[in-house]
Amino acid sequence: MDSFKKNWFTEVCEMWPGGSFSFEVKEVLHKEKSKYQDILVLDTTSFGRVLVLDGIIQCTQKDEFSYQEMISFLPLCCHKNPEKVLIVGGGDGGVAREVAKHPLVKEIVQVEIDDKVIEVSKKYLPFMAVGFESKKLKLHVGDGFEFMKNHSQEFDVIITDSSDPVGPAVSLFQENYFALMKSALKPNGIVCSQAGTFWYSMDLVSSTLKICKNQFPKAAYATTSVPTYPSGQIGFVIGSLDNDVQFDKPTLTFSRQDELSMNLRYYSTDVHKAAFALPTFVKNELEK
Ligand code: SAM
Repeated sequence: MDSFKKNWFTEVCEMWPGGSFSFEVKEVLHKEKSKYQDILVLDTTSFGRVLVLDGIIQCTQKDEFSYQEMISFLPLCCHKNPEKVLIVGGGDGGVAREVAKHPLVKEIVQVEIDDKVIEVSKKYLPFMAVGFESKKLKLHVGDGFEFMKNHSQEFDVIITDSSDPVGPAVSLFQENYFALMKSALKPNGIVCSQAGTFWYSMDLVSSTLKICKNQFPKAAYATTSVPTYPSGQIGFVIGSLDNDVQFDKPTLTFSRQDELSMNLRYYSTDVHKAAFALPTFVKNELEK
């Protein structure tokens, strides 16, 4: 068998050296260099449409729902009344799509740095960009870090759906960003940020969780499965100003009927509870 095939896209990145994931490509739908990053949209034989930024897979049509549902519903269902939500990043629209489903959310503000990602997603990834059509949403183009400096005690939940810590996203993994998010929250507010995989990036997981613990009285790491991300596992750091929060005991629970009517395909109350159960070697590292 020839393993060196033509028409395959391979994700190669120094953040996960020596290993990579590949797709068979049917068609390159779009390729451009924006002010911030290289944008590529592929149509693939097994994973549907794929968004790649600076060579790194952001989402695929086949498995994006796992990530979008978990980064959205974990914090939303830990908050007693998540009326006003801020999304930072998320230029594909998938997180907005999920947040808009939550019955208690009234208002969503989103800040994405790259208008080209929004434009391309609307054209090629409508199954995610449908999130931008929500009447609850106000979309701004700008830097999430700068935006945060000008907002105080305004949001119940802040979700950072950032790319990995390269280029414009570096600032979103730093302690001063977590401090700014804390100031932008209302009392008892919650933050949830993409925080990398424990298989390849334990240092990133550990440092992001430490930063979150420095700023919030309650903080934890939760995991989900996304087969097209490096190692197939990714996690979120979640921090709360509410001392009484128990992350693995959601305040809002959904029945099977709720899950079906909200078109939830990955998130459920049971999956929420299990997301905070971590393998022993991960707990050992994160407790250091
Ligand atoms: N789910 C994806 C993942 O985990 O790789 C992330 C998807 S979403 C496309 C990431 C978005 O974050 C990109 O569109 C990027 O432009 C945006 N972004 C990066 N840095 C940003 C910043 N400082 N402020 C706002 N948006 C930012």
